[in-house]
Amino acid sequence: MLPIVKYPHPILRTPAQEISTISDELRTLADEMYATMLAVRGIGLAAPQIGRSLRLIVVDVSKERNQRITLFNPRITTQEGTGEGEEGCLSIPGVSATIKRTASVCASGLNSQGEIHEIKAEGLLAVCLQHEIDHLNGVLFVDHLSRFKRERLLGKYHKLQETNLKNNGTLPTQ
Ligand SMILES: [Zn+2]
Repeated sequence: MLPIVKYPHPILRTPAQEISTISDELRTLADEMYATMLAVRGIGLAAPQIGRSLRLIVVDVSKERNQRITLFNPRITTQEGTGEGEEGCLSIPGVSATIKRTASVCASGLNSQGEIHEIKAEGLLAVCLQHEIDHLNGVLFVDHLSRFKRERLLGKYHKLQETNLKNNGTLPTQ
């Protein structure tokens, strides 16, 4: 399992590098990211979250955990409507908030074979794709909150981290 980088690590605020060649090393990395994401019961993971500044995301919002999406250099191509839902983040464990997002999106990127892969998404998948692609731009879900709500949520998060450090001497993985 790959270790997940936690807020406020600076890589989470750094725009990730475009991938020029999808090598075997990167395909293996994507496999490891997907296995890590499943192990911590996540629905999406972006490479900066495991400490790599690369434009790579893995997503699976299915209950059966059998609808893996791997996208290299993904971007949102079209957006429509607005919606909101509860969001959390593996890099900011223990807190969540209601976030306003675009309701349906088209995302486009390259799959592991280097072919263009386009996904039309709504609901949870649309939210997840926006959340993960945000990570590639150094944007976190808390950035979509008002300053007041963001500071309150991060205050709660920091307090949780301190309590966990005091109790176990380690940070929680989720
Ligand atoms: Zn996240």
